[in-house]
Amino acid sequence: MNKIIEVKSLSKTFDNKQALKEISLDISHPGMTALLGPSGSGKSTLLRHLSGLVFSDHQATTEIRVMGRLVQSRGKAAAQVRRCRAQAGYIFQQFNLVNRLSVLTNVLIGALGATAKWRTLSGCFTQAQRLQAMAALERVGMAAFAEQRVSTLSGGQQQRVAIARSLMQKAGIIFADEPIASLDPESARTVMELLKNINEQEGIPVVVTLHQVDYALKYCQQLVALREGEIFYQGESAAITEQALAALYTKSPSTKT
Ligand code: ADP
Ligand code: MG
Repeated sequence: MNKIIEVKSLSKTFDNKQALKEISLDISHPGMTALLGPSGSGKSTLLRHLSGLVFSDHQATTEIRVMGRLVQSRGKAAAQVRRCRAQAGYIFQQFNLVNRLSVLTNVLIGALGATAKWRTLSGCFTQAQRLQAMAALERVGMAAFAEQRVSTLSGGQQQRVAIARSLMQKAGIIFADEPIASLDPESARTVMELLKNINEQEGIPVVVTLHQVDYALKYCQQLVALREGEIFYQGESAAITEQALAALYTKSPSTKT
């Protein structure tokens, strides 16, 4: 089976603090994968490595592949890394849309790729791109808002626009870092349903960090749990025990069981 994500020997240190400790990870399931763990356990740091946004401590020994492509290997493959970044859609807690631009333009920006100088390009999109962006907005139920400024939308609506932008990017995989953390429960459900739907219909794997265990169990077939920078659990979400979940969120006695 084709691997979705392969990580070998990933460590990351910030100012003497080890955020990730020799992590190895193997995800083959093309469905929804939840990344769980207490605050500060390294979830965002791991996602940033998967997206090629940051590099590990030991580049000579770390290997990261996403959808079969080498992401981590700075010396050898800067171009490869850029290509991979362009193929991953990244969704953030704070949406990261351009507030003063319209919904439609924000989605069109997805077509420009990771290195685009969009400021100089707005107005230069083709009709085909506009139709594609409208289709992406249709897909997330936001077509009626195309001409509105992003700043007029609710959080849940903004997150749907961010998802449309990933679709416009033709993302091969979606990484979502706490996409529902600042949403009310109803908007959170809508966004999770949408991600699940896109995963199932478009076949785009989704890796999503979540604070809420119940959402992870409900929407994600696979779990990766991090605790203090180490993998605590990796496998089917249906197989994790109540005790393991409780232990995951129990404050550490610095020795681990
Ligand atoms: P999580 O997303 O699980 O809350 P993070 O990956 O954001 O955890 O952080 C893991 C650890 O690394 C934390 O102790 C955090 O303070 C530290 N850390 C993350 N990013 C940086 C950074 N850019 N500079 C310094 N420390 C950081
Ligand atoms: Mg985080």
